[in-house]
Amino acid sequence: MSSEKNPKHTPASASNFIRAIIEKDLSQHKYASKKWAGSPGDAQHQAAGQVDFAKIRTRFPPEPNGYLHIGHAKSICLNFGLARDYSGVCHLRFDDTNPEKESQEYVDSISEMVQWLGFAWQNGAESNLYFASDYFDHMYHAAELLIQSGLAYVDQQTAEEMRTNRGTLTEAGKDSPYRNRSVEENLTLFREMRDGKHADGSMVLRAKVDMASPNINMRDPAIYRVRKAHHHNTGDKWCIYPMYTFAHPIEDALEQITHSICTLEFEDQRPFYDWLLEQLADAGMLSHPLPKQYEFARLNLTYVVLSKRKLIQLVEEKHVTGWDDPRLPTLAGARRRGYTPEGFRLFADRIGVSKADSWIEYTILEDCMRETLNETAERRIAVLDPIKLVIDNYPEGQSEDCFAPNHPLKPELGKRTVQLSKELWIEREDFMEAPSKGYFRLFPDNLVRLRYGYVVKCTGFEKDAAGHVTTVHCEYLPDTKSGTPGSDSVKVKGNIHWVSVAHAYQAEIRMYDRLFKEAHPGSGDKDFLEDINPDSVKVIAAQLEQSLQGAQAAETFQFERHGYFVADRKDSISGNPVFNRTVTLRDSWQK
Ligand code: ATP
Ligand code: MG
Repeated sequence: MSSEKNPKHTPASASNFIRAIIEKDLSQHKYASKKWAGSPGDAQHQAAGQVDFAKIRTRFPPEPNGYLHIGHAKSICLNFGLARDYSGVCHLRFDDTNPEKESQEYVDSISEMVQWLGFAWQNGAESNLYFASDYFDHMYHAAELLIQSGLAYVDQQTAEEMRTNRGTLTEAGKDSPYRNRSVEENLTLFREMRDGKHADGSMVLRAKVDMASPNINMRDPAIYRVRKAHHHNTGDKWCIYPMYTFAHPIEDALEQITHSICTLEFEDQRPFYDWLLEQLADAGMLSHPLPKQYEFARLNLTYVVLSKRKLIQLVEEKHVTGWDDPRLPTLAGARRRGYTPEGFRLFADRIGVSKADSWIEYTILEDCMRETLNETAERRIAVLDPIKLVIDNYPEGQSEDCFAPNHPLKPELGKRTVQLSKELWIEREDFMEAPSKGYFRLFPDNLVRLRYGYVVKCTGFEKDAAGHVTTVHCEYLPDTKSGTPGSDSVKVKGNIHWVSVAHAYQAEIRMYDRLFKEAHPGSGDKDFLEDINPDSVKVIAAQLEQSLQGAQAAETFQFERHGYFVADRKDSISGNPVFNRTVTLRDSWQK
């Protein structure tokens, strides 16, 4: 069962077509007698096991050739979420059948991110973390079974010939001249391939299905190729590697997966998926019920690119600082930005799953982050664009405690003290020399409340040579301190935040915004790089309340009136955290 660190924010998941399928399967007891021996394996292995305690088995099958992104989060939440909701199990399976591009670094970062999202592949004593490359012996055996059944052959056509003879959507394919080799000859050649006797690209093993099928994927797809390459898990044991179309259904079947959920581009591969598993069941290697593949629409998010190629380009050409740049849609970047696992799970539930491709508004993701952060983030005070406010009638050298609640909706989180003294930092925008209509903050002769402190009256201001206001003067009304009897006897319309100059400290804040300024980066034949937002980060020096100096890396806060901020997990040093803006309090992009 997948575990949840904080299930509170995940509402009862909306129904969708995949849930409907699972509910029907369960009500018909489709998998009620399916066996599970505690580990992946063929029919014989599983038959010796118990009836599977897991009502369904799903899997998340990343190829360890890159970092996970927000699209993967949708798939993770879907697969692990279904297992959680239907008393099932979800496997984390590294689909590492491609020797060249895969590495341990990716394996580690993917595992870390799945856990970060709040899911687990551990079920008591059983760990459902698997590597497809551990099944190479089974896959090889499956290939020999097909050859022995006359359902696979070694083809020596060139790649070009194979492409031409595959035909088109309107034209049937042509049989390879090697299609009718004898079983013996195919076995000999395939074993020679395995033994390294043939060069890369000189021959492939193909399934023998139907060269006239209207579905091109059924026109004798290649299932094994020669590739003399070192593999991160199996080393130099193999010089032939299975193709995805062949490997994936076998991986699912060995793991007793019930519902194999993938994105829409695999729809045309489903007939081969079923064909292959049926043949292997007939040959005795697998048993019924076999896994079934279901397709859903992948996530497309406005203002974001999710293509691996584009992400690599952004990193390699240094448009961002690395794979965990807080502006990237990688999960490592989103986590560093301060996005929350609860927010991602809420997002996955809210967008649901469908059968039709569409674009999801980035705002929906941001709203999910705001909603979850609003619940959990403690409030703090930060002045991002400081000017000085001097309380002329406040004693020099004196300071006093004011009490600020840590969370307005959660009194149990208590209050903290913030010090008030004669000189304060306030926001530049909280003062206007000549107020515009409806402006209720500081302007000459106006009264405002210093949040958690006193009511003050603006008495004057100073400007520098360039005409910029540098200092505002005021006088405080001693009987109006927040929290004291009669403090509200003076009614004011404005309420501004502040920190004491003597007590505040200056910190670096990275004001992140969207990485692209266009909803569909690169649309209309443009290079997507042209749509990069030149203001996607601004680094500022802000004045923060003292308590923030003790923030732990990755701790999140709401800076009152500004938004949600997180102590950067990489560049913060003890006593001097750097803060990243996660998201503003309100959507500033809505037109
Ligand atoms: P590649 O181009 O290398 O295949 P990929 O993004 O599909 O890239 P995988 O490691 O194969 O990477 O993905 C793992 C799983 O995540 C797959 O099941 C895939 O369907 C799913 N996935 C990938 N991108 C998205 C997306 N944008 N929305 C939903 N699911 C996705
Ligand atoms: Mg893929």
